[in-house]
Amino acid sequence: MAVISRRMNQLGTENAFKLGDDIQRCVDMGLDVIRFNLGAPDFNSPPHLNQVAMDALEAGRAGYCDPAGILPFREAIAAHVTRTRGVDVTPNRVVVTPGAKPPIGYTMQTYVDEGDEVIYPSPGFPIYESWVQFVGAVPVPLLLSADRDFAFTADDLAALITERTKVVILCSPSNPTGGVLSRDELAGIAELIRTRCRPDVRIYSDEIYEQILFDGLEHESIASHPGMAERTVIASGHSKGFAMTGWRLGWAVLPTEEEAALFKQININIVSCVPPFLQEAGVAAYEHPASAVEVKRMVTAFERRRDWIVPALNDVPGIGCRMPKGAFYVFPDVSGLCERLGVYEAHAALPGEARCRATPAGMLQMFLLYRYGVATMDRASFGRIGAEGQDFLRLSIANSMDDIRRGVARIGEAAEDAAGFAEFVGAEEARGGKGLFA
Ligand code: PMP
Repeated sequence: MAVISRRMNQLGTENAFKLGDDIQRCVDMGLDVIRFNLGAPDFNSPPHLNQVAMDALEAGRAGYCDPAGILPFREAIAAHVTRTRGVDVTPNRVVVTPGAKPPIGYTMQTYVDEGDEVIYPSPGFPIYESWVQFVGAVPVPLLLSADRDFAFTADDLAALITERTKVVILCSPSNPTGGVLSRDELAGIAELIRTRCRPDVRIYSDEIYEQILFDGLEHESIASHPGMAERTVIASGHSKGFAMTGWRLGWAVLPTEEEAALFKQININIVSCVPPFLQEAGVAAYEHPASAVEVKRMVTAFERRRDWIVPALNDVPGIGCRMPKGAFYVFPDVSGLCERLGVYEAHAALPGEARCRATPAGMLQMFLLYRYGVATMDRASFGRIGAEGQDFLRLSIANSMDDIRRGVARIGEAAEDAAGFAEFVGAEEARGGKGLFA
């Protein structure tokens, strides 16, 4: 009998957090690290919301509360979703969760049995692939390619739908690509799901970046299309749009009250409830007039940074970067950079097992971090299955303009340093053991 369950071997991770250990090692070595790895806005949470939480805490509203979320917050979420998605939502279909990440696992536990198939975007948020495998489902990545601007059509999705499909995950605006699904594209997907999927198939619509769109685009949800609200779990929260990542305020709107009761039951089993004084600030985020001003200020800053960084990255030899339409990431193709620096040769020369685990973009990622103090995420961090041969890095632009400028300048220097890369790989080889590339 092994100490650790077999199931645990299936659990993946989010490398953006895992990289923290490497970053700390670099900091301990005296490197000044520019953190493009985590998707955490560099803004403080809005002062008017901080004040609401502090007042509620002072007033003693800090005990256990309804595991589904306090009623005023569920009412505010229901009203927000009704207003922005054009669908009627009652508070009893809303469950508040600690962040927008838990509803992903809750969805897998609630709807998916072993052997069921789950379709999810890749590159996509890594927690999708992690949970799909953890519950013993069959992962069916919807592979998105840069030459099609990471977009997909109903036909692409149609090719993946089978009798065993149980959940289809959508994410718009997307992490990591910044891609945005238009109303027409969503209409096509909705039509496909209506005609090809049984009514018990669920859509998981991850809308955590709903406030962060550029070029005047407006957020669109699959739930707004005919027949979709009754099949869709909409998940979102306050982490990104309101710069409240550490507050752990998220929510899901379920197709029925019965399904919401199951999410509530999972909350009871794991977290009991989300702190009520934080939820009070959550209400104000949707209802206080200052919120829209704060959100606009942040989105304008992200857009300005995007407009600066995309051409700047394209000026670096070997990098090709597309213009994201939303979220706060850029996702450049770095295959040319891998070519210039000799990363492909170094990857091919790794011993068997290490070569399987490492990816060229991952080796470049470690070189940039350990030698240039620039923390990025490689393509494989956003879904490993079917990602072979795709060399991209994700950079979060939820960083100050100053850091963005310094970071891109360092990447530009690294692009001229094939000798430094060779020396880095040699030093890693000499260290032996598991190494940075494993
Ligand atoms: N979904 C996506 C697509 C995300 O990018 C993130 C955070 N990076 C989450 C969910 C989780 O959000 P939270 O921090 O609110 O749990």
